[in-house]
Amino acid sequence: MISKSINISLLATFLYHASSFTFHPIISIRSTSSSSATLNLMAWTPNSSSQQSLSEDLLSISPLDEYNAALLNEVRPLEYINPTVDWGTVWDLVVVGAGAGGLVSSRQAARRGAKSAMISMELAGGDCLNAGCVPSKALLRCAKMVREARKAALKNNEFGVSFTKKDDGREVDVQVNVDFSKVMERMRMLRSNIAPVDGHARGNSIGSAVFQGKGMFTSPYTVEVVEDGKKLGDANNPVLRFRKAVIATGGRPAIPDVKGLADAPYTTNLNLFNLQSLPERMVILGAGIVALEMAQAFAAFGSKVTVFARSRLLSGDEDARNIIRQTLEQDGVTFLEEVKVMEVKTLRPRGKDREQLPLMNLSITHKKSSTPISMECECLLVAIGRTANVQNIGLENANVNYDPTQGVLINDYAQSISNPNIYAVGDCVANVPRLTHMSGEMAKVAVQNSLFGGEWKMTSLVVPAVMYTEPEYATVKQVITLDANGHIVPTPKQSSIDEQLDVYQTELRSNDRAILDSSDTNGLVKISCVKGTGTIVCCTIISSRAGEMINEVSLAIKNGISIQGLGRNIHAYPTLGEGVMGCGLQFIGAKWEKL
Ligand SMILES: Cc1cc2nc3c(=O)[nH]c(=O)nc-3n(C[C@H](O)[C@H](O)[C@H](O)COP(=O)(O)OP(=O)(O)OC[C@H]3O[C@@H](n4cnc5c(N)ncnc54)[C@H](O)[C@@H]3O)c2cc1C
Repeated sequence: MISKSINISLLATFLYHASSFTFHPIISIRSTSSSSATLNLMAWTPNSSSQQSLSEDLLSISPLDEYNAALLNEVRPLEYINPTVDWGTVWDLVVVGAGAGGLVSSRQAARRGAKSAMISMELAGGDCLNAGCVPSKALLRCAKMVREARKAALKNNEFGVSFTKKDDGREVDVQVNVDFSKVMERMRMLRSNIAPVDGHARGNSIGSAVFQGKGMFTSPYTVEVVEDGKKLGDANNPVLRFRKAVIATGGRPAIPDVKGLADAPYTTNLNLFNLQSLPERMVILGAGIVALEMAQAFAAFGSKVTVFARSRLLSGDEDARNIIRQTLEQDGVTFLEEVKVMEVKTLRPRGKDREQLPLMNLSITHKKSSTPISMECECLLVAIGRTANVQNIGLENANVNYDPTQGVLINDYAQSISNPNIYAVGDCVANVPRLTHMSGEMAKVAVQNSLFGGEWKMTSLVVPAVMYTEPEYATVKQVITLDANGHIVPTPKQSSIDEQLDVYQTELRSNDRAILDSSDTNGLVKISCVKGTGTIVCCTIISSRAGEMINEVSLAIKNGISIQGLGRNIHAYPTLGEGVMGCGLQFIGAKWEKL
């Protein structure tokens, strides 16, 4: 419902992440109306000029078209009125944060009969829905289509496809062009289609009371919801008393300390998906999963992409890294290694009309040039990693120990090492993989252990991770390591334990499906087992749809199925999954009885 009579005052209160050069502002939208709980009086309206700057500057969502308005109406409703709280109420579970970790914790608790509340400061759905998995995979789908179309458009291509178009009766070749604004519009449309699942209306309907505002711990058993435009301790801020709480505040992009960068119009995942014009030149700081996915996508769309790696590309298996590098180079991506960025100069700021891209000059040294060289770009994407959101949320009041950049310190039960009534899940936790399904799985562990006396262990989790480039790069292993006190610590680098493993490898160049598809012929499946046994420790797959193939190996590791079991499992012919079976057959073949 849209009401023009409501007076909205927008107060930007930049309360968050004071220690960092990026901050997440809290918006304040004050209404003169008084109305019943959770009634949404005013909606985000497409193309509203008064709301555009609010959505773009304060929530990093732009343009305010019909799709983004629909998204915001779900995950950050205007004029949202928090549920009424009575001081006598003790919540079974209060969850601070509304990304994958927060949504799963609070909703699962509600579904299992608990009195559950979730506090959402910015956009429910967190990074994954709004500025991570969802928009990035939508772009990668278009990039894949463009790459396929370009292959098909090559003269004398092996597929027997030819495109022509009639122009005044003459036949001319078609060119494969990319309409970048259409690519971004498709992404916004699909993101808004997915949004209702994460939205406030759905959360409330499940029985998890959704509060909008910043959650601040004020004691080991209370959280105050600092409502929009108010301060901690202001009258009428809801204060939630809890039996148990979950911290699920996620993370934010880490920004390096480089001269000129803080004032430069750089891009992170938070505003990348707002682009409306394709940058001619894109420089990506970082060479991890997010960096390489976006490198491939933007190279396919036509940007000249350069990736700055501090040391090397990705981590993990060397063969896999080489294949990914080779493929991206064929796509036109340039890699510079051992890059040190000395200075970023802003030659042109970001245009007010949003169509004009900024212009920056970077002064750098790298492996092959120790004397500084300069490089210009319209888009500087900073993707060097994440910093946990753990400061300025009152963790000290709740006696919760944390590392300021890595996050909350927890034990095998996802429980704070210093306050057993408080659990932490997802990207705000130290020494765990930062993935949506990890946040979701940790949330289930936290609910079971906090409310049902469970003893589900983090060390039992087998976690797949996928980079959705073409080909995909998928890995799986047990990723949680404990110290002598039972606290989760960083997992040792793979190379230090490599010699204790037997490795079984299948090259997809001899896989019939890969041959028939003329794709993935440089792909591979590698399964490593404890030396002298068939007990699987980890697996790496490079292939299209490797993300689907890896799930079979996760199931095997989780359920103690040996590599022999994978070899004896019938796989449909012809499938890429036969590569997994092939590793098992190598193990079986080595032990065959022979006449
Ligand atoms: C570009 C990109 C692509 C990615 N792709 C994938 C992928 O394909 N697959 C995958 O598994 N992972 C992917 N990830 C990682 C994934 O997005 C994160 O691991 C996931 O979103 C973490 O969920 P979370 O709930 O822990 O934290 P977040 O998603 O960060 O959510 C935290 C929430 O808490 C809120 N919050 C913070 N502080 C407070 C407070 N004090 N009070 C109330 N609320 C607060 C925030 O506003 C936010 O909504 C990607 C990440 C990026 C950046």
